[in-house]
Amino acid sequence: MEQRNYDVVIIGAGPGGSAAALYAAKKGLKAVLVDKAKFPRDKTCGDGISGKSMRVLKELGLTSLIEQKEHSKMRGVIFSGPNGQLLDLVAKDVPYCGYVVRREVFDNTLFQEASKVTEAMQETSFKDLVFDGDQVKGVIVTTKDNEDIQLNCKVVIAADGALTPVGRRLGKERMPEDHVMVGIRGYYKGINNNTDRIEIHFLESLIPGYFWIFPTQNPGEANIGLCIIEKYSKQRKINIRNEVNRVIKEETLFKERFVNAELVSEMRGWNLPLGSLKSKKVYNGALLIGDAANLIDPITGEGIGNALLTAKFAIDAIADAIETGDFSERGLKSYDEMIEKEIWPELKLNTRLTKLGRSKFLMNLFFNKASKDPKMAEMLSQTLIKEKSSSFSEKVLRSVF
Ligand SMILES: Cc1cc2nc3c(=O)[nH]c(=O)nc-3n(C[C@H](O)[C@H](O)[C@H](O)COP(=O)(O)OP(=O)(O)OC[C@H]3O[C@@H](n4cnc5c(N)ncnc54)[C@H](O)[C@@H]3O)c2cc1C
Repeated sequence: MEQRNYDVVIIGAGPGGSAAALYAAKKGLKAVLVDKAKFPRDKTCGDGISGKSMRVLKELGLTSLIEQKEHSKMRGVIFSGPNGQLLDLVAKDVPYCGYVVRREVFDNTLFQEASKVTEAMQETSFKDLVFDGDQVKGVIVTTKDNEDIQLNCKVVIAADGALTPVGRRLGKERMPEDHVMVGIRGYYKGINNNTDRIEIHFLESLIPGYFWIFPTQNPGEANIGLCIIEKYSKQRKINIRNEVNRVIKEETLFKERFVNAELVSEMRGWNLPLGSLKSKKVYNGALLIGDAANLIDPITGEGIGNALLTAKFAIDAIADAIETGDFSERGLKSYDEMIEKEIWPELKLNTRLTKLGRSKFLMNLFFNKASKDPKMAEMLSQTLIKEKSSSFSEKVLRSVF
């Protein structure tokens, strides 16, 4: 079998994997980026690129490139509670606070940039890990010509998404049903009253999950979908595909808006592994990032930001380990420490908020209060736009209690 040598092998070229390749190049590491798909490829998603993602894109120098592609700029967020009460939070001092970019476009942009600075192998699948004792020493991949190649390395980064075949090989178990959301999305045109805000509607049937409308760059068009905790979808006997139809045809807030709307894509479903449960992310010679490390925000369903951030943390940890020559779990533990410091407090807080979100009564209380109090709405807008999402959650929690 052919063998090749690298510092880092990255399996999966979604936002996490491509960002890891870009950060690896910045640090002068020899990396290879492997994906089973041929780019451009789609990924089931709401396509919402939040402030957190925007900050990493800026650091990578990719903001203007993204803005040259088809995208819409979002000026705020419209929320509604189970009782239908609306809360419209608009960015005041900044022209916009997020984008909606189709993942086919977004991921391909990152992948093409990564391919300029790193070796990339498309249509190449992860087959197995190579071990020396309990230390990962590389990966065997299978190319589209059915050829197996052994990629030896110091560290493997698993950026291979929610099902994470690399993580499974390392012993990671499937997430329990109350820590995974099931989501579905499609593109509709002819929607009435689209705004320049993303819309998140906490409907009674879905809470703490929600129904979303994320407007694209085309007037009247949006990515729409919903997500619900897997356990609840079973308990409440909700078929997510049928539920989308029910929501747009029957719910008071939407039936007029969707009266002439037409589905212009497939409805596609996928899993959202939530960061509401801590799990192992560091192994001897391997790190899990993004969805592979279950880091999706349990309230917003946002995972791109943490996939990009953990790509950066993983490369920083590997660069540190190269200094010491220790690629064991101990040598790579700074990766865990960065997540613990920068990401976990937010996930922990939003997990608490999800528990509150399970109560229809408390959700309605919050929406009634916030929508009737302009000062509170203003404070929440400012927090949402300018600060970390944990500060937003903290203020929501405080306002309820
Ligand atoms: C319905 C839905 C709506 C969502 N909406 C949003 C949103 O609006 N905003 C947001 O921030 N997040 C959203 N998310 C979450 C977001 O999509 C993920 O968090 C994000 O894609 C994670 O990026 P990643 O790079 O970790 O993994 P992925 O984007 O899943 O990329 C994984 C890559 O690994 C590759 N791969 C898998 N297996 C193999 C293999 N065996 N060999 C080689 N390659 C392999 C895949 O082809 C893929 O390219 C949503 C998710 C869902 C399901």
